[in-house]
Amino acid sequence: MQIDALPLSIKYKIKYPDEFIEAVKRGEIVATKCKNCGSVYFPPQKDCYNCGKNEMEWIRISNEGEIMTYSIVSQKPQGFENYEDYIIGIVRTKDGINLMAWIKGQPKVGGKVRLTTDNMRIIGEVVG
Ligand SMILES: [Zn+2]
Repeated sequence: MQIDALPLSIKYKIKYPDEFIEAVKRGEIVATKCKNCGSVYFPPQKDCYNCGKNEMEWIRISNEGEIMTYSIVSQKPQGFENYEDYIIGIVRTKDGINLMAWIKGQPKVGGKVRLTTDNMRIIGEVVG
């Protein structure tokens, strides 16, 4: 007996705060900063894990960063099979925040990037 297999897919919807999405549309990358103890969170958080308070303010993150590591993605997830290969990297910003970005240009570990957005994703353009 044979049972036909059906491909299954699950889509998760991740809810980012409106403030974050609006900033990305402006080409800015923002984080939250605890008004009580100064801890900075990226991705933005509503509550401070350090001191337990929930009074946060939005701050803009530096758009200068350095590539810590990167991967060239040639095996794409379902739904992205037709995309060209792309590069995902971890970038450490000048103010010490690590974030994931799509890398444009020739990446190298330690290479400098300028962070921007394409209205949807965070982009790290290689500048040196
Ligand atoms: Zn705090």
